Amino acid sequence: MTQLQNVALVLKKWPLKGKNLLYTFLSNKGTQFQALYYYKKEMIAPELGEILELSFTERSYGENKLASLKELNLLWRPLKCRKSYGRYELLCSLLELVSLQQSSSHQRDFFVLLVSALAYLEERMDYPEEEDSFRALFLAKFLGTSGLSPQIDNCYLCKKKIDERESVLFSFEQGSLSCLNHHQHFSLQEKEIHQLIYLLFSSWGKLSFDEGMERLTQNNNLNLLTKYLWRYLSYQLNLSEGQLSLWQRSSEPNRESLPRSTV
Ligand SMILES: [Zn+2]
Repeated sequence: MTQLQNVALVLKKWPLKGKNLLYTFLSNKGTQFQALYYYKKEMIAPELGEILELSFTERSYGENKLASLKELNLLWRPLKCRKSYGRYELLCSLLELVSLQQSSSHQRDFFVLLVSALAYLEERMDYPEEEDSFRALFLAKFLGTSGLSPQIDNCYLCKKKIDERESVLFSFEQGSLSCLNHHQHFSLQEKEIHQLIYLLFSSWGKLSFDEGMERLTQNNNLNLLTKYLWRYLSYQLNLSEGQLSLWQRSSEPNRESLPRSTV
């Protein structure tokens, strides 16, 4: 039996029989792990999105390990977010997305990303109109952190170097951009969204949430942009219908209205 200590963020929480709770944590050391917690009446059960300092014991059962929480100390909680249903749902959707990437080697970066994203949501409670741009920025950052950003330096069809001032079109399937030489028909709106995708991945997605949001919120079509990014992510992660229910509800209420891929 090993005694361990960690700083970790609550990704998932399930009630089990009796007073047992099963948690999935994301530690700042870069691992996702599950732990059981038996709580008594006077104790506090950690909630989603909270950051805790915790100690736990780990038992091995053959090849499997089971952690059991012993002590915990609350470091931060998204208290304001819990007061708004919409904001809390958005917060949970970020946790849901990261928890799905359990086998990714980027857990330490996911921890940093979630800490800054949740802090931003908490701080900007009074600006619900920012939620579409926040979703788009988070998706771009998540894809960047996961090493799944599209290739944006060259046109994937003719290999020409893409210039920042140039209009481009984005392909979900290729995960790349192409110059407009290969396309006959595109609407002004499509052109704008594809340009936004380029800007998100080439520069804005690398900025802090404050700076990135400042640039994004000046644009229209943000809801549509989120849908494009969501479709790209679903394609890259091979997501099945309903696998990320919260994202699907918020980002893609009407699949049929999605624009077709460009190439
Ligand atoms: Zn080209």
